[in-house]
Amino acid sequence: MDVSASIAARVIASLMIVGSWLDPAAADDWTIAGTLLTPSGIVTDGAITISGQKIAAVGTSATLASAPTSIKVPGIVLPGFIDLHNHLTWNILPRWLPGRTFADRYEWQDTAEYDRFLVTPHTLALNAAACESEIYAEIKALAGGATSVVGSLLPIGHPENAKCAKGLARNLDMASGLPFTQPATNDQCNKGVGSDALLDVVDYEVFPLELPHARLDYLLCELGTGNLRSLIVHLSEGNPRDSSAHREFTMLSKSSSLPPGLIFVHGTALRSEDFAKMTDGTSVGLVWSPRSNDELYGSTTNVAAARLANVTVSIAPDWSPSGSAGVLQEIGYAARHHFVASEKLIEMATTAPAKMSRLDAYIGSLEPGKFADFVVVDAKIDPNAKKPLDPVVKATPADIKLVVVGGQAVYGDPTLLAQLLPQGTKLDTLTVCGSQKAVYLGQSGAVELRKSLSDIQATINAALAKAGSSIPDIECY
Ligand SMILES: [Zn+2]
Repeated sequence: MDVSASIAARVIASLMIVGSWLDPAAADDWTIAGTLLTPSGIVTDGAITISGQKIAAVGTSATLASAPTSIKVPGIVLPGFIDLHNHLTWNILPRWLPGRTFADRYEWQDTAEYDRFLVTPHTLALNAAACESEIYAEIKALAGGATSVVGSLLPIGHPENAKCAKGLARNLDMASGLPFTQPATNDQCNKGVGSDALLDVVDYEVFPLELPHARLDYLLCELGTGNLRSLIVHLSEGNPRDSSAHREFTMLSKSSSLPPGLIFVHGTALRSEDFAKMTDGTSVGLVWSPRSNDELYGSTTNVAAARLANVTVSIAPDWSPSGSAGVLQEIGYAARHHFVASEKLIEMATTAPAKMSRLDAYIGSLEPGKFADFVVVDAKIDPNAKKPLDPVVKATPADIKLVVVGGQAVYGDPTLLAQLLPQGTKLDTLTVCGSQKAVYLGQSGAVELRKSLSDIQATINAALAKAGSSIPDIECY
């Protein structure tokens, strides 16, 4: 869906109920009413009924019968942001200000200051507070409006890590909760290779050119079968004029096909002819992380050229040390520094990542049958304005009133969360951009750790203190 086109085309004053009613007496049905961003445009007097993990119906509050639990929210209800590029456990670390820019990622990863400021404290945290770091990073992601993330702490070699990622954001690369069939070890792709199994619907690789050839071939093959919905790889990250960063595209595309479901992260050194190859009989996606690129390389991806070549582009923060603290903040950055229209930016955080990851049957828009992943942003929306979503792009995490993942309210204003959770449910609170927020940790790994949010922060800070570091405040912009 092109959000900007559909909003420009029409504002829906009334909308018929679409989709089927599930049993209205089901105990877990609830309704949220307010202004909605739907695939058809902005609905000013809308309502969504949630049944279990999914959206049962979308309509107007006049046409949709309220479920037993019904809440009215200010601002606008948007599909939850889908973050296809992050490195979650690093987001416990403060912003890195190296005071210079680099040619490519190999250069900064080879510096003593990167080791000292980021690698050393991160290693200490992973040794003493791995699960806590994942949980805290997911809360930070929710605070920026993300409901789906990648770059999680994986259970490979550490099966105990499986508990760390549950119950908060949707972890597309290890515990997505989306339909997924583990392919047989002797299927057409894995025959004789003995490759490790897939973990989930998305595979996320930071160094694809360092993968064993058999593993990369296997992953590309499973993209073809559809067992793997998407393969996200970092590629061509550096200054746009850096030849070695550009060379990565040649190296990957010469040795491999470029099948649909393949997604390139960064692509700062990609050129028009490369973008053309990404859409020539195929559909390779691109994830744009402008703030991190600007800070590390002094420039970013030629997104205009990518879009001219019909490449689908999404936006994501990369990580907190050089990118934004969350998706909402990254959207704001792109609007202020790269002048991308608000409607396009919201599309780049919702429908575009859903489409390029081939998960749009499940997430990315407010439609019946999809998972109930959404975020409420307290922004003053005038549906008749020329750019009605400008107030969303100007919002900060203080304005995020509610985040719901799979029908479960997990983060937001304490009063809203208390309304949606059983009476007496324990909530942990935190201050974000001067505003008090709450998080529901009752289905997360914090339960097994027997830790509150403040315990989690204390454990992480104790580890970081050994390297003279500590968790920073969540940045508002
Ligand atoms: Zn990255």
